[in-house]
Amino acid sequence: MKTARKYLIPAGMLLVFEAVAVALWLTKANIFYLFNFTYIGVSVSLGILLFIKKYKYARRVVQLLVGLYMLVFLGFIRGENMQIEGFWYYLFTGVFEAATIHYAVAKIFGPLIFGRGWCGYACWTAMVLDFLPYKTPAGPRKKLGWIRYVTFAASLIFVSALFLAKAGNIEKIMFWAFIIGNAVYYALGITAAFIFKDNRAFCKYFCPVTVFLKPASYFSLFRVKCDKSKCVGCGKCKKVCPMDVDMTDNSRKRKNGTECILCLECAENCPKNAL
Ligand code: SF4
Ligand code: SF4
Ligand code: SF4
Repeated sequence: MKTARKYLIPAGMLLVFEAVAVALWLTKANIFYLFNFTYIGVSVSLGILLFIKKYKYARRVVQLLVGLYMLVFLGFIRGENMQIEGFWYYLFTGVFEAATIHYAVAKIFGPLIFGRGWCGYACWTAMVLDFLPYKTPAGPRKKLGWIRYVTFAASLIFVSALFLAKAGNIEKIMFWAFIIGNAVYYALGITAAFIFKDNRAFCKYFCPVTVFLKPASYFSLFRVKCDKSKCVGCGKCKKVCPMDVDMTDNSRKRKNGTECILCLECAENCPKNAL
């Protein structure tokens, strides 16, 4: 009975995505949404299933399935700019499509439920960065988080300027902005990882999307909690955390709390099953 119950989680997740898929398909009269959210739901559910089966690379499988789909199929083939610039673009045109839906679900309202699950399981930038050799940071976090506000403002100014200048063929510009933007993100992300000896340095200091992700993740329903009655304070959890979170503190104000990407490395390495 207990075994059957744990399979309810991937089944439930699939149902949630399917409900979104059908609702958007019918309200937007566009069958693409049925395909899109079914694909993502199947990928996420498969990942949870693999995790239940204790497959070591379960998270990486979801990351590649969703990340490559969004980067290659949605971005390169369908020409949809799903970067933050694409979000501003669709927002300014007043269209609730593509990037605006994506941002609403994955990055603005979704984090109220699943925190920064996007960063751990779906982001195509981190999908590549996680292949680099510094899975846990070599040193303490630097005080460089302010850079994210500069990149956030730059993305907004860039798209605003296109609209103010009434640039022609803006769709084509946005497509090239997606290609060039991704190339810049990868180059900066890989360079930062080697400089700081930390695969997630880009996420910690440069990524503009965190400006959206962090406030809602503060209230996240799903979060790693520590059972103090089991914890022996060995510190193994903190050593393996890629995001420098103090997961042994259960308060919402815990150190780097809104940085947690729900990778569960801490829980997997806790010798007392306290997380
Ligand atoms: S912080 Fe930015 S680059 Fe890093 S995983 Fe999240 S969205 Fe992707
Ligand atoms: S690894 Fe487990 S037992 Fe050790 S400090 Fe972390 S939560 Fe406590
Ligand atoms: S190791 Fe634990 S606290 Fe750190 S990011 Fe992963 S799930 Fe969050």
